[in-house]
Amino acid sequence: DQFADNHFIRNIIDEDLNSGKHSRIITRFPPEPNGYLHIGHAKSICLNFGLAYIYDGLCNLRFDDTNPEKESDEYVRAIKEDVQWLGFQWHEERYASDYFETLYHYAIELIEAGKAYVDDLDAEEMRQYRGTLTEPGKNSPYRERSVAENLDLFQRMRAGEFPDGSKTLRLKIDMAAGNINLRDPVIYRIRRVHHHRTGDAWVIYPMYDYTHAISDALEHITHSLCTLEFEAHRPLYDWVVENIAIDNHPRQYEFSRLELLYSITSKRKLNQLVSEGHVQGWDDPRMPTISGMRRRGYTPEGLRLFSKRVGISKSENVVDMNLLEGAIREELEGSAPRMMAVLNPIKVELVNYDEALTQSRSAPYHPQHPEFGERLVPISKTLYIEADDFSLNPPPGWQRLTVGGEVRLRYSYVIKCEEVVQDSSGRVTTLKCRIDHDTLGKKPEGRKVKGVIHWLSAKHAVRATVRLYDRLFTEARPDAVRDEDGQYKPFTEFLNPDSMMQIDAWVEPVANSLPPESRYQFERLGYFVTDRHDHRAEDPVFNRTVTLKDTWQK
Ligand code: ATP
Ligand code: MG
Ligand code: MG
Repeated sequence: DQFADNHFIRNIIDEDLNSGKHSRIITRFPPEPNGYLHIGHAKSICLNFGLAYIYDGLCNLRFDDTNPEKESDEYVRAIKEDVQWLGFQWHEERYASDYFETLYHYAIELIEAGKAYVDDLDAEEMRQYRGTLTEPGKNSPYRERSVAENLDLFQRMRAGEFPDGSKTLRLKIDMAAGNINLRDPVIYRIRRVHHHRTGDAWVIYPMYDYTHAISDALEHITHSLCTLEFEAHRPLYDWVVENIAIDNHPRQYEFSRLELLYSITSKRKLNQLVSEGHVQGWDDPRMPTISGMRRRGYTPEGLRLFSKRVGISKSENVVDMNLLEGAIREELEGSAPRMMAVLNPIKVELVNYDEALTQSRSAPYHPQHPEFGERLVPISKTLYIEADDFSLNPPPGWQRLTVGGEVRLRYSYVIKCEEVVQDSSGRVTTLKCRIDHDTLGKKPEGRKVKGVIHWLSAKHAVRATVRLYDRLFTEARPDAVRDEDGQYKPFTEFLNPDSMMQIDAWVEPVANSLPPESRYQFERLGYFVTDRHDHRAEDPVFNRTVTLKDTWQK
């Protein structure tokens, strides 16, 4: 089972199906198109679409587009692409704005039933009337308007007769309710803002809670799943569907939000990173957005595995980056072919290289997957190896190369370093090494050579740009750091200045035939992906997805 199992929502659904309350479940994923989706949304997508998959039900994609000033078609397009890339297909694509006319008619019904009224209090006055957690609110002086007057005023609100913010439509529930959400919540406000889908057709827009409840009911959603901050809104959700003439009543269930340490899960704050230029766009590979993680080289399978592991519950869901990177690494281990790359080269000259004697071998792209095929790993007189794989003064236990020491070249011969060439500053520029020609595909005679290093033939290697990414923030909770006065510090103070380093490197010739988004393990170095936008077959660009081991030091 690829989705989170045995959680409380599955138990509820099992009961609802067993009891015959529902014969089929319908869920929805309801993003507001005001930004790109992030890792928290991936959890919600895997939950909603995953449940529909497990129970052979349906899941709608519904855009909750009731705040026109922040919404756009670009975000709609990006969200659809992300959901599909994660491996899901919605039953229907819906928009809350599709229901504006219907929502308006339900509002008229509520007015006619004496359950809604037009209020003239402004935002500040309304706040004063609302009361507090410990004190009941006060009724608005406009609360007892007649049905006829309310109908007239509401129709004129729609017709554009009143300025922005001068009137609202409110539900008449209870200003003394213990739950503040039930103290006559506003369900319509006047806003002259162009809407990405309805254009300038409306100057009044419905509020989220009202819209969400009715949209769910209209779509016959059986289980409306949302994050815990909506728990206190549930009585309002229920009130709305019970007080309009609609024949079904979806149930809302809440689960905890995912929080990822050293990262941020808020579209608003991610938007700030983009608009202030701290990153190179919503899909910058350092971003915790789905499109950023995609560009970083994460796989849909890896993200689904991560979602399964974080699970679904009502308890706090703060997870370390290691859990995410671990899932990605684990998935890539079996799915990514391998090649060799040298990021920080030093030259090796093979003093006894012999055209007639020295052979190149083929190597499989993956040790466990012969179906991935093989390629020739060419050898020649001059090689590149990783500078880190050589030491003039090695520590005890060193298994890589040193003067007088031996090492095996991966898929090739054992070599011995005989001499070091240094420049005038003492920097090692070239290692002169001797091949043991009797070691191709077999152990050397009479001694053990433990170290195996990666390498490339200098004349066959291909230049590539490699981007090494690290965490975007230096603080575990960058948006929760306070100063001496208890004020939140701007989270942008905790950006990691070393979150990206671009280098020139050498890779195998196959890089010259790869399309964008090809994922490879560079042996001993990590997982890398050809950049979705900047990679060209003739001019390869790789992004480091994740290192092979967890190397992060706190
Ligand atoms: P943001 O503050 O980032 O805008 P949001 O909750 O306002 O988040 P929506 O677009 O309304 O974003 O979210 C769509 C769905 O995704 C909602 O059902 C929401 O509860 C869920 N969701 C959003 N963030 C998370 C998260 N961090 N963990 C789990 N689910 C989330
Ligand atoms: Mg929201
Ligand atoms: Mg939001």
